[in-house]
Amino acid sequence: SLSDKLQGTFKVLKNKGVLTEKDVDEAMRQVKLALLEADVNFKVVKEFVADVKEKCLGEEVMKSLTPAQQVIKIVNGELTDLMGGEGAKLEYDPAGFTVIMMAGLQGTGKTTTCGKLANFLKESGKKPMLCACDVYRPAAIDQLEVVGKAVNTPVYTDRKSKDPVKIAKAAKKEAELKGFNVLIVDTAGRLQIDEELMAELENIKDKVKPYQILLVVDALTGQDAVNAAKGFNERLAIDGIIMTKMDGDARGGAALSARKVTGKPILFMGTGEKYDALEAFHPDRMASRILGMGDMLSLIESAEKNYDEAKAEKQLERLKKNQFTLEDFLEQMGQVQEMGGLGKVLDMMPGMNKAQMKDVDVEKGEKEFDQMKSIIYSMTKAERQDPNILNASRRKRIAAGCGQPVSKVNNLIRKYEDAKKMMKQFSNPKAMKRNRMLRG
Ligand code: GDP
Ligand code: MG
Repeated sequence: SLSDKLQGTFKVLKNKGVLTEKDVDEAMRQVKLALLEADVNFKVVKEFVADVKEKCLGEEVMKSLTPAQQVIKIVNGELTDLMGGEGAKLEYDPAGFTVIMMAGLQGTGKTTTCGKLANFLKESGKKPMLCACDVYRPAAIDQLEVVGKAVNTPVYTDRKSKDPVKIAKAAKKEAELKGFNVLIVDTAGRLQIDEELMAELENIKDKVKPYQILLVVDALTGQDAVNAAKGFNERLAIDGIIMTKMDGDARGGAALSARKVTGKPILFMGTGEKYDALEAFHPDRMASRILGMGDMLSLIESAEKNYDEAKAEKQLERLKKNQFTLEDFLEQMGQVQEMGGLGKVLDMMPGMNKAQMKDVDVEKGEKEFDQMKSIIYSMTKAERQDPNILNASRRKRIAAGCGQPVSKVNNLIRKYEDAKKMMKQFSNPKAMKRNRMLRG
């Protein structure tokens, strides 16, 4: 994978005190191969590598005491810029009522993402309504209704009409009348970009005037996703991109190129089929994820020094037997605190974990940990040992017990699951070997 490749390159670079131009060349060759292999568009790669190389050969870098680190920093920084630098946010119509139109090929995740967005909007204090404008398949309307129910958001439908413009307009009217402030318009897709679809979307755009046109792009489709992004943007002038299925083994290349070829920001990424699996897109975190160099090695090193080895070993054992419980998680978090706090550890982790713990920051780390503790303490022994039984009513009870919102409980469970996943990565033979090498 891309990160494996780059990780190898960077490991070699890291061990070098002095760099030659040849080293930089070799590193750039690897970066290029890795990016190409990750489905990053060829032109994008060429430009990128040329830029990065020029910067790397700059005097400050070659003469610095840690040239290799500088190179890594430059690659990371340039990747971040390539994906949008600062990161962008969904924008709302200042007039008070925002229409969001979804667009994208069939199966990319438009309808699912409508639900995720509604969920996100509600959490941000908005009042969203959904609108079913995929008029070609009755099942599509049913699907959006299921989605709406799941996220507790009303869905406007008109099963008799085949006119998406008429439906969207009526939905807008009704939503405004009923005091909603965001309308999310789900649209039809096609397997490929075709004239009919584009004309339809253009028509909705002209008549309904969405404030944001969000293109849903499936990260798993690699280069096709990039071409789709280009095509949709040329015709519709989209406002932002939502990259779905980033939870699979998406190679990340699509994210890189989609931004570059459209010039439009990636606002969110979908990381699962559930309605809370939507994350703000952070270019810097994605860069680390693509590079796979979120400093896992120093994390392991630090862990080696500070982790209670016996405990860690025990956790690993349990994990293997699939018995890594919430109590283990709590213990692990406690150890993390001892290692210098969550903030520090998060900094060292690959982007994936950082992204998933997006609401944790350095200052909040301590407080967050106490909150987690209080949530876990509000659980029964059985729940701590088998989090699978944590259904909605149990979560509600726990939330009431510790005086925190259910969302916090859900968050904790998600983090526990992430930790479990990460532990699994640690427990694979390759990681173990690395571990032992560091130890010995
Ligand atoms: P649409 O045709 O664009 O409306 O796509 P759908 O919303 O019907 O989604 C197609 C499939 O992709 C469904 O099975 C979804 O559950 C799945 N899907 C959507 N987003 C994600 C995601 O972020 N991760 C994963 N793993 N699956 C997703
Ligand atoms: Mg759909």
